[in-house]
Amino acid sequence: MYLKNLTLRGFKSFASATTLRFEPGITCVVGPNGSGKSNVVDALSWVMGEQGAKSLRGGKMEDVIFAGTSTRQALGRAEVSLTIDNTDGALPIDYTEVTLRRTMFRNGGSEYAINGDTCRLLDIQDLLSDSGIGREMHVIVGQGQLDTVLHAGPEERRALIEEAAGILKHRKRKEKAIRKLNAMQGNLDRVTDLTAELR
Ligand code: ATP
Repeated sequence: MYLKNLTLRGFKSFASATTLRFEPGITCVVGPNGSGKSNVVDALSWVMGEQGAKSLRGGKMEDVIFAGTSTRQALGRAEVSLTIDNTDGALPIDYTEVTLRRTMFRNGGSEYAINGDTCRLLDIQDLLSDSGIGREMHVIVGQGQLDTVLHAGPEERRALIEEAAGILKHRKRKEKAIRKLNAMQGNLDRVTDLTAELR
């Protein structure tokens, strides 16, 4: 599995459609300060489902939409498509190539698609979660993040390692199951009370 293409359209400084093609191996993106290198990385995490504006170096989510310049008007939507080579079947889907697409409109609406079919954010997260990529997998190490790791306490560091090891997904599923069990227990208690009252 490797990233093949990334297309940005109206995303941050990329007003016009721009496609980056990656080959297997190492890719370096070089350019002057402020030319948009980090915006490319932001686009990668955004299309994989990132929900935190701060993680995308913005104040609010709509900051990812091209805000205009002195020569070009602001746009009403941002769209990013990421094509992943899946010939090794690392993603649990019957396609050798998978294209994720995320679109956001200035009025707040948002859309996701897998290979052109509209889907939910959860479908993207599920697709990526077993493959070792996706948000919270620490595949994207941002500027300054190494400092955070080095200065983290033992518990925070353990949490980071658990996330990187893929345990997070299971912890979240366990927490969800416990919440459901507790809700179920509440219902059972209520039924028991009602039955006792009716006797
Ligand atoms: P450095 O080498 O300094 O880290 P960089 O190449 O990583 O820089 P980025 O941080 O990716 O640069 O890009 C910053 C540029 O993106 C700034 O010029 C900023 O104005 C522009 N930018 C960010 N968000 C938007 C937006 N929503 N609309 C238009 N331009 C934006």
